[in-house]
Amino acid sequence: MPSEAELSRLANQLFGEISQEPKPVDQHPMAFPASSEPTLTAAESLPFQLQPPGGWQPSFSASQLTAPQLGPIQPLDAYQIRKDFPILDQQIHGRPLIWLDNGATTQKPEAVIERLNHFYRSENSNIHRGAHELAARATDAYEGARATVAKFLGASSSEEIVFVRGTTEAINLVAQAWGRRELQTGDEIVITHLEHHANIVPWQILCQQTGAVLKVAPVDDYGQVLLESYERLFTARTKLTAFTQVSNALGTITPAQEMVQIAHRHGSRVLVDGAQGVAHEQVNMQSLDADWYVFSGHKIYGPTGIGVLYGKRELLQAMGPWQGGGNMISDVTFERTIYQEPPNRFEAGTGNIADAIGLGTALEYVSNLGLRNIAAAEQELLSYATEGLCCIPGLRLLGQPKEKAGVLSFVLEGFRSEDVGSALNQLGIAVRAGHHCAQPILRRFGVETSVRATLAIYNTKEDVDALVAGLLRLTHGSPRKRP
Ligand code: PLP
Repeated sequence: MPSEAELSRLANQLFGEISQEPKPVDQHPMAFPASSEPTLTAAESLPFQLQPPGGWQPSFSASQLTAPQLGPIQPLDAYQIRKDFPILDQQIHGRPLIWLDNGATTQKPEAVIERLNHFYRSENSNIHRGAHELAARATDAYEGARATVAKFLGASSSEEIVFVRGTTEAINLVAQAWGRRELQTGDEIVITHLEHHANIVPWQILCQQTGAVLKVAPVDDYGQVLLESYERLFTARTKLTAFTQVSNALGTITPAQEMVQIAHRHGSRVLVDGAQGVAHEQVNMQSLDADWYVFSGHKIYGPTGIGVLYGKRELLQAMGPWQGGGNMISDVTFERTIYQEPPNRFEAGTGNIADAIGLGTALEYVSNLGLRNIAAAEQELLSYATEGLCCIPGLRLLGQPKEKAGVLSFVLEGFRSEDVGSALNQLGIAVRAGHHCAQPILRRFGVETSVRATLAIYNTKEDVDALVAGLLRLTHGSPRKRP
């Protein structure tokens, strides 16, 4: 971590001399509403010591990992990796693009872009029908991608992998194709306070349709799920539990395996939302034991419009169809339809063939880097960035869970989140400002919006330095003394 003097010098170098004139403070009422909720300042309130970057140790145990990547952790070179991402090689407002909006979507490596190019240049065809060469090539590539996903997740077979548009569609699919059949008035669904709207609204709709009741597990002041309170929510009527692996608004890594076990112990089915987890932590369906696991391709360096629903085979087999149409049937008369076996039963109509194939390439790309190596590099950068942000006067980090992915969500005293986002944009730095589709958890921390910087494999310490320097410039302040 650079010293305070170095940070000031860096801010000046990067963005010009910082004026010593204090800036008029914009007291937006949303920035710091009076709240009885705890106000966690960045470093003072940590339940643990920040590890210096050099002393970091991975927070997961080897038994959680799949066999092929159990070797020692290899350091990754973000400077080399970023060369694989052509979009990063550009200027925004006259400055090099710094992409810290990875929680919203990640950039795509050349390999994925090339794979899509190749598909449309030499393989494009509809799949599963048509006895011609291109249909065979496209089908092979599409089914090959399904096999890649199955291997990546440690699924028992490719039949457990359904291609969907993304996490949102996968959750809606489970709600409608499984929940609508299985839930009755008075049954219960357990979620947590951390959830993205995509893991709240489909269950609310399901509750309206079936008379089921939604119950919410609370989090503590650090943004960690209170496991005892979570367990106390379960009753004999709890049919379904759905929770996120990583919170998109705070970065909390939930104890997913333990939460699945608790839900199963109480006879509930479990869906794990892997949208923010899949690119940051190695997952294995055998050890996680979730009934469904869902994620979006675009958050793991793959294309938009493609995602995955993993479901245990016997469960998918017992589920009715999601949408009706071509591809999902084995026989149709005007009187009745016989449906295909999973996964085809859930893939009505012409799917997103090219992007499924592109997703397969993205998963191969991250597998080559190694998920454990990615997690280790991200944790080191997260520590560095957390220390850097702690130096910004008036900055309050939201959520300081012990287990945390590369999400830095904060508010800056006297500034609206949108204004911070716009100011950073002028410096070529892309962060997200808003409610992050997770209003309940932001409100739990007493805010309506936050600024969110999210880290990925191509982010460097220089990216973080530029963020810190940009924020210092905005606050016109000198760095706060580090504790
Ligand atoms: N769940 C979480 C935790 C997310 O972060 C997101 C997107 O940000 C979603 C679900 C929805 O993903 P998508 O918009 O790709 O369907």
